[in-house]
Amino acid sequence: MPDVVLPEVVPVSAFKDNYVWTLRNARHAAVVDPGDARPVLEYLAREKLQLCAILATHHHADHVGGVAELLRSFRVPVYGPRGEPIETLTHPVSEGDRVTIPELGVSFSVLDIPGHTRAHIAYYGAGALFCGDTLFACGCGRVFEGTTEQMYASLEKLLALPDATKVYCGHEYTLANIGFAKAVEPDNGALAAREERDRRLRERGLPTLPSTLGEEKATNPFLRCREPAVVQSASKYLGGRMAPPAQVFAAIRDWKNRF
Ligand SMILES: [Zn+2]
Repeated sequence: MPDVVLPEVVPVSAFKDNYVWTLRNARHAAVVDPGDARPVLEYLAREKLQLCAILATHHHADHVGGVAELLRSFRVPVYGPRGEPIETLTHPVSEGDRVTIPELGVSFSVLDIPGHTRAHIAYYGAGALFCGDTLFACGCGRVFEGTTEQMYASLEKLLALPDATKVYCGHEYTLANIGFAKAVEPDNGALAAREERDRRLRERGLPTLPSTLGEEKATNPFLRCREPAVVQSASKYLGGRMAPPAQVFAAIRDWKNRF
């Protein structure tokens, strides 16, 4: 099954700032992280689409809370992390597994990216990355169940993907994240340009996502722990102590928590 063609991906908004990424063609749709069933069911009804798969990145309720209700209307496979307590999973998956959605002609490989939760996963294929609450536009998720070392290793793993990779995150946090990123790197010109563009998108009520991995590499401080400006800001935060990249990451993650 080739994974080269990404179907159309539509953001269905849920709650205050969640996105349920909906992959679709003329007849079928698959959803990533349906925290709430209602907006998804409304979208499917309006577009006359048949749900064909559910993909979950981690067990938090704002990502899987709508699964049970969707299953009452559609009997479809539910993919999600092996090793997290999600009762509705029919296909537990982890690193090395592949998720194929024949109705949409697409398939994804599963990456283990723990840190935000113990067994958080991402789906990568057709030039797209669905990364839940691990990598955000210009930020990263909080470390709730794993360690900062795990989170850093997970982000390093994502860094190895091609720059053109489209990054579909679980939340619209971009402008707030850019606010923090500017505190870390006040002189980053790419960051200033990104703020300009993304502010305009939000003013028009449009999502700032997907971004690209290349853009994240240029502007996301959590992916820039080797950049002199980021190292220097982290060192300042640590009271002048110099630190290797993993500790630079830990320092700016801690700083962001208090920001
Ligand atoms: Zn979460």
